[in-house]
Amino acid sequence: MSDVRDVIIIGSGPAGYTAAIYAARANLQPLLFEGMQPGGQLTITTEVENYPGYPQGVMGPKMMDDFKAQAARFGTEIVFEQVTRVDFSRRPFTLETDFNQYRANAVIICTGASARLLGLPSEIKLMGHGVSACATCDGAFFKNREVIIVGGGDTAMEEANFLTRHVAKVTVVHRREGFRASKIMLERAQANPKIAWLFNRVVLDIHAGADGKVKSVTLQDTKTGAQSEFATQGVFVAIGHKPNTELFQGVLDMDETGYLKVHKGTYTSVEGVFAAGDVADKVYRQAITAAGMGCMAAIDCERWLEAQAHAATHAAQA
Ligand code: NAP
Repeated sequence: MSDVRDVIIIGSGPAGYTAAIYAARANLQPLLFEGMQPGGQLTITTEVENYPGYPQGVMGPKMMDDFKAQAARFGTEIVFEQVTRVDFSRRPFTLETDFNQYRANAVIICTGASARLLGLPSEIKLMGHGVSACATCDGAFFKNREVIIVGGGDTAMEEANFLTRHVAKVTVVHRREGFRASKIMLERAQANPKIAWLFNRVVLDIHAGADGKVKSVTLQDTKTGAQSEFATQGVFVAIGHKPNTELFQGVLDMDETGYLKVHKGTYTSVEGVFAAGDVADKVYRQAITAAGMGCMAAIDCERWLEAQAHAATHAAQA
């Protein structure tokens, strides 16, 4: 039996598991690498209320367990290994982990993105307990509270505006006075009466109350160095995202911020390699859009493999 797989999927978020469900049901017997953070970003959120099909909401980790079980049910081989090197220069493609080498006729990349964080121990400890890196995911849990959002880019402005649908007040905490955000997004936020502004400040620490939830932050003035306490019930970190594409540097075409470029749906710059989810999407970044794109990638992949087989049969007959 050949050791060459039809398709290998890298990544175990909504895009990866959805691609696996579709590929498995198309009899492609996919192998999926879970990577270092099985389940992806949803495993660090709490409740997910905006994924259709869960009318009562669902905890992020539970939802990813469901995705995984569904992918496994149709025969996906799920491997808890991290891909450390790829060779896409010839087919079959080669993928290496610390333990093994694998080969595949096609690859679907669903390695996702990671929110950039401030790097504070308290930020990790209180993630899901008042600290969040996704206002769209968690904003509704802060009804009528007062929160801060850190950052001065489009994400911070967009999320600050979004948060005002739920919260009583959002204070944008930005480390300087100039903004990276586009003029229109900034003006929209500036016109919002529920948004307040603190310039030239960085968050040095985040503190919890007796209930284990965020109650305040220590801020430092970047000009004077002075420190102050600021009461807040939520800390939204919006300092950008980083696509998980280090593995594909110099191998696949990326945009200037490192997101994989796709065309014709989910085709990357190497034929037979497809990409889906946050690794190739810096605009929507939702579980449902990642899942939808995972489905697209599996269908693109299946049709591409079929066309390859067809071409090979014709060549053999000629
Ligand atoms: P971004 O443009 O890179 O902005 C990140 C912001 O976070 C900057 O203001 C930066 O401050 C600040 N920051 C970075 N590290 C920090 C730290 N350690 N402590 C405190 N502040 C820190 O990222 P983004 O806002 O996520 O946007 C990414 C891309 O997506 C952009 O191209 C953006 O236009 C696009 N986007 C578009 C939309 C839309 O059009 N609807 C929505 C969201 C995002 P400095 O300015 O001082 O560096």
